[in-house]
Amino acid sequence: VFVDQPLGPGQAVALDEARANYLFAVMRLGAGDAVHLFNGQDGEWRAEVAEAGRRRGIAVCADQTAPQGVPSDLWLLFSPVKKDRTNFIVEKAVELGAARLMPVSTRHMNSERLRTDKQQAHAVEAAEQCGATWVPVVEDLQPLDRLLAGWPEGRRLYWADEARAGAGGGWEAGSPGEPSAILIGPEGGFSDDERARLAARPFVTPVSLGPRILRAETAALAALTLWQARFGD
Ligand code: SAM
Repeated sequence: VFVDQPLGPGQAVALDEARANYLFAVMRLGAGDAVHLFNGQDGEWRAEVAEAGRRRGIAVCADQTAPQGVPSDLWLLFSPVKKDRTNFIVEKAVELGAARLMPVSTRHMNSERLRTDKQQAHAVEAAEQCGATWVPVVEDLQPLDRLLAGWPEGRRLYWADEARAGAGGGWEAGSPGEPSAILIGPEGGFSDDERARLAARPFVTPVSLGPRILRAETAALAALTLWQARFGD
């Protein structure tokens, strides 16, 4: 369970209503039971439930069960799609070790409002489920052009380019240990202008995800997996 509080030997941790409800009503835990806690900084801790109320609880840390892990040095830039599919992208990105989730606005993106707070909560759940000891930040939506303009030196941006679908490859330009990011477009693909601006940037590497056109959420999953298989640890 993710908590936004320090963890350490003997540390008492307050459990808020949502966590109390999950642990005590849903999971049916009670005083004396063990819970595993992480906060993104101090690794994972086994804690004992000291108080199990309906609205709140307290757990006391006993011992560290896993050291603090680090995500891959990999960012995922994606153009939001419909809500459920964006949820899927966030979940898979956490499971596949992305460090930052960066929604980007593009010309043909889905116009539904992106609830970053909901997506962040979704990232927390995904981290809890897959045993990651960190939670990537889901950033606010920003225009693709602005991100490209302020791009950090030395980070390669793998652009999943549907026009390369038939051609294959692209990934061979990268190398392990290189700070990386992946860009996935919206269902409508990138506009001609966006394509031209991406192609003009030296840090952008167009890559293929195979011969068929994948839905945006499948493309995100495939690209993250391909990156991890080639460059991940
Ligand atoms: N409407 C676009 C078209 O017909 O060409 C398809 C967009 S696709 C559904 C959504 C995004 O997934 C694309 O912008 C691209 O980033 C990525 N994508 C899907 N299939 C791909 C492939 N085979 N190779 C590279 N990128 C792909």
